[in-house]
Amino acid sequence: MTTSAIDAHASPDDPVAALLRRAQPCLWLNPRRQAVPARVQPVAGQCISLDDTKAAAARFARFAPLLAQVFPELQPSAGVIESPLLPAPGLHAAVGSLEGQGRLWLKADHLLPVAGSIKARGGIHEVLEFAEGLALRHGLLGPQSGPDDYRALASPAARAVFARYTVAVGSTGNLGLSIGVAASALGFSAVVHMSADAKEWKKERLRQRGVQVVEHVGDYEAAVAAGRAQAAQDPFSHFVDDERSLSLLLGYSAAALHLQQQLQDAGIAVDAEHPLLVYLPCGVGGAPAGITFGLRQVFGPHVHCFFAEPVQSPCFMLQMMAGQGQHPSVYDWGLTNQTEADGLAVPRASLPAAELMAPLLSGCFTVPDETLFRQLVRVLDATGERIEPSAAAGFAGPAMLTGSDAGRAWVAAQSLQQHLAQAAHLVWTTGGRFVPPEEFERFVQRGRALA
Ligand SMILES: *Cc1c(COP(=O)(O)O)cnc(C)c1O
Repeated sequence: MTTSAIDAHASPDDPVAALLRRAQPCLWLNPRRQAVPARVQPVAGQCISLDDTKAAAARFARFAPLLAQVFPELQPSAGVIESPLLPAPGLHAAVGSLEGQGRLWLKADHLLPVAGSIKARGGIHEVLEFAEGLALRHGLLGPQSGPDDYRALASPAARAVFARYTVAVGSTGNLGLSIGVAASALGFSAVVHMSADAKEWKKERLRQRGVQVVEHVGDYEAAVAAGRAQAAQDPFSHFVDDERSLSLLLGYSAAALHLQQQLQDAGIAVDAEHPLLVYLPCGVGGAPAGITFGLRQVFGPHVHCFFAEPVQSPCFMLQMMAGQGQHPSVYDWGLTNQTEADGLAVPRASLPAAELMAPLLSGCFTVPDETLFRQLVRVLDATGERIEPSAAAGFAGPAMLTGSDAGRAWVAAQSLQQHLAQAAHLVWTTGGRFVPPEEFERFVQRGRALA
């Protein structure tokens, strides 16, 4: 893959491509977005619809009583793993003044229990789906088993079955935390292949829970490839494939159904007069693509989703510009993939996620690391919420749309201008709950020094 393949698609003097190559913040808008999405979307040779999202939500519900038993922190929510929707008027100035251009909300996945990040959604879903399949095959559950019966999966007999299997994953950190913690809690042995940039505290947290951590000198892609190869040798190993898994993606998509209820409860309408604009931090693309798929199925033309990436790791934007049949890497573009946003440090996008997003996504934008640290401090000061650098990427979104020529032209072309005052801007804050205090303090100092 050379840059010329992309230049053939986006003309050589394309201003977005030029900014991208210089690692300058930029906004790419998707010319292929379909206002009314098809009910059934092809992805990785399969077809998915809202029914699959509902099936993932139903799986979480079946497992809730078991989860409440295995994770004491889930007792208050009766086993439901969800995050609040928080109003954030104090952050309007921080995102570049939304005066008269809508209201800002946070979807606070940085508070998600068990995993402390958005990875709780997809990662735990895939572990549950694997456990459920085994339980049915081994007669631990009947086809008619209700949620109460799922507690049987905490029995010594069930755990003895699970203990024969390994759940493995390759990760920059947060997916490993989610899979490792969930799998070991159910009795699986768990192996997490970590890239060199994974944070030490994430490795330590896993080791404390009996998870085997395998360190790799390379980047995220290398960790995934090593884990995939090792697991392929072992019939008792299930590899959670962050670059290919539909179970992950559908687990993420279930967030859309819960959010729909939260928006309704908060009195936020989503319709032609009240657009919803959602800004999602993006690594390999599975999490934001799953959520975008669910939201587009639920809200159709009235929701616009944008992915946020570090200026040195804009793999999803590159993939969307290149189109199918290409698989560009950020290294091909002279970028380093070096970022403090470890959850987003991915050189090449998930192809299924990109395929799924071609008709659904509104756009992508990039953010310098300094902006992440500044926003992290503003979030702390205005709301008291503690997010990690990756989770701050979405805050640059509203200003990209309302404060840049390209963004304003897009808003006008979408006929959104007259409705922006009634818009909800939803920034997805994707992680941070378990960042150790001393680590967080370093983030804050760095952000204050930049302010
Ligand atoms: C993984 C992650 C993302 C993005 O998810 P992908 O599926 O990799 O795109 C965003 N924020 C945080 C904190 C993450 O850990």
